[in-house]
Amino acid sequence: MEKDIQSVLEMALEQGRDVLYEGKVANYIPELAKADSSNLGVCLMKKDGSIYKAGDYNIPFTMQSISKTFSLILALQTAGYDKVFSKIGMEPTGDRFDSILQLELKDWRPFNPMINAGAIVTASCIETPDPFQSFLDLVRRVCKNPGIRLNESVYLSEKKTGTRNRSIAYLLKSDHVLDGEPEDILDVYFRMCSVMITARDLARYGMLLSNHGIDPETNEQVIDTSIVRIVTTLMMLCGMYDESGEYAVKVGLPSKSGVGGGIVAISRKGVGIGTFGPMLNKKGNSVGGEKILQVLSRELHLHVFDTASF
Ligand code: GLN
Repeated sequence: MEKDIQSVLEMALEQGRDVLYEGKVANYIPELAKADSSNLGVCLMKKDGSIYKAGDYNIPFTMQSISKTFSLILALQTAGYDKVFSKIGMEPTGDRFDSILQLELKDWRPFNPMINAGAIVTASCIETPDPFQSFLDLVRRVCKNPGIRLNESVYLSEKKTGTRNRSIAYLLKSDHVLDGEPEDILDVYFRMCSVMITARDLARYGMLLSNHGIDPETNEQVIDTSIVRIVTTLMMLCGMYDESGEYAVKVGLPSKSGVGGGIVAISRKGVGIGTFGPMLNKKGNSVGGEKILQVLSRELHLHVFDTASF
């Protein structure tokens, strides 16, 4: 079995490499355009501590929208369910991750915390004296990696060019959804997006979520089970933006992507998977990462509705 997982990972990596040319690296944040388009890696961690890896699993990249899941955990931990979901909905949008459309058309609340509008409001809900430091502490603790840090150049690049996120924040402010100073909240949001992690860190995060927030080595409850349930449900419904439906059919795992090229995926069978490949499809999701996850899901029977055992 051990050997099987490793060979499936290597096969998935090869199939991922075959589709890389279909993607493009993100360039709307200038610093992200410098990514190495040939990078591709995957790491799978089981709750018994076994770990499997292939390709560029240890190369750091900025987590971008994957930060939305960590900030949601922190907002729920500090402000609570009622406050967070009085300001943000729980519905998929079917629109781009940075869309502004629904804010005017339907509801004054962002549809969900996995799109930019929702994540900016989530950042405003974190009730700690230093929200970014609390975020960094949480990421380091969850990934068991004290070396995780901010990529200053990506942060400054995004802060300088983030006019669309600024538009969203000011619109939310004018509609009284955002409490506080938009520039301060955006600064926290941009920093959170610019924290560097690896596919290995993501596999560990996914494994912890799959284990109901409990660290299997210490039995410590790192994240409350009720919060894990909310976050993973929203990942399933909205984690891949306007590709969430097709991805659910093809991969069928609660997942979250970021334009830095990362994807974290969670299997209820006690498995976390992290992938990294900066070549993105039109929806902003890693083409190589999606392909790898599709192969792993099929070969290892990980799809939520796959009845075969792992
Ligand atoms: N920092 C990025 C942005 O705000 C995150 C988007 C993403 O990863 N999809 O545009």
